[in-house]
Amino acid sequence: MTFLKASLLGLAAIGASAAAASGQIRVVATTPDLASVAREIGGDRISVTALAKPTEDPHFVDAKPSFVVTLNRADALVEGGAELELGWLPPLLENSRNGKIAAGAPGRVVASEGIRLLEIPTSFDRSKGDIHSLGNPHFMIDPAAVKIVARNIATHFAQVDPKSAAVYNANLAKFNTTLDAKLADWQRQLAPYRGAKIVTYHRDFVYLAQRFGLNTIDELEPKPGIAPSPAHLAQVIGKMKANNVKVILVQPFQNRKTAETVARQTGAAVLDAPQQPGAAKGTDSYFGMMDNLIGSLARGLGAAK
Ligand SMILES: [Zn+2]
Repeated sequence: MTFLKASLLGLAAIGASAAAASGQIRVVATTPDLASVAREIGGDRISVTALAKPTEDPHFVDAKPSFVVTLNRADALVEGGAELELGWLPPLLENSRNGKIAAGAPGRVVASEGIRLLEIPTSFDRSKGDIHSLGNPHFMIDPAAVKIVARNIATHFAQVDPKSAAVYNANLAKFNTTLDAKLADWQRQLAPYRGAKIVTYHRDFVYLAQRFGLNTIDELEPKPGIAPSPAHLAQVIGKMKANNVKVILVQPFQNRKTAETVARQTGAAVLDAPQQPGAAKGTDSYFGMMDNLIGSLARGLGAAK
C-alpha cells in the first residue's frame, strides 16, 4: 500500500468517526434480527450494535462485561420483549445506569408492543421451567408482526432524534413496500405446502406456521427451555410416525444430534432453519435471512412430499 493510499484510508476512518460523533444516534439491539430492522429504519442516521451473536439462543445470551459499556453509551435500545431476554438482559441494564434506555424512556424500544402474542398462558408456574411466560416471543419470522416492530422503531427513533423524523418515516415506508413484495413471494413459495406437518426443537416457529399455513404438531423440548427427555422423545416419535411428519426444524444453537436421532427413527429429515441474519452465509439482513429460511423450508418440504 502506498503512503498516500494509507493516508487517505486514515482520513476516511477519521471522517467516519466524526460522522458518528456528529449526530448519528447509537442504537443497541439485543438480537441481530432486531438490529437489521433498526438499520433499515435508521439508515445513515444511526449506528447499530447487536448484543447476541447470530448463532446464539436469544433466551440464553452469553452476557459479556463489555455489554454494560455498550449499553451505557447507547441512545436507544431495541429489545424483543415478552420476556425473550429475561434470562440475561435485566442485570446488564441495571449495571449500565443509562436513563436514556430505562423502561418507558423514548430510547427504549420494546418490539413486542402492539403485537398480538400467541400462546399467552392462562396460568403460569415458573417452577415448571417454561420460559414463554407472557406468550410466545418468537414473532420476528412473521412479516406482519415485523411491520409493527418497524413502526415501533421508527416512532421511538423520531422521539430520540426529532430532526431526522422525516428520514425515519421515509425509510419505514420503503421497508414496508419491500416487505409487502417479499411476503407475496414467500407466500407463493410455500403455497404448495399448506397444511404440511412439521416438528421443531423449540416452540419457535408458531408465528411462521400460522402466517404460511403450516402445522407444527410437536416439539422435541417438552416445554420451552426444558431439554428433551427420553420419555418425551418417545412420545414425539410416536406422534411423528402416526402423522407421517417428514421434517424437523432446528436452529444453530439447538441440539442437532437429538434431532438426528429422532429423524433416523421416523424417516424424517433435519432441516437447518436459522432465524437470525448472519447465521447462514449471505443472510446479513432481515430480508436475506427470511429469503433463506423460506427457501430452505420450501426445498425441505418439497423433498419430503
Ligand atoms: Zn422461546
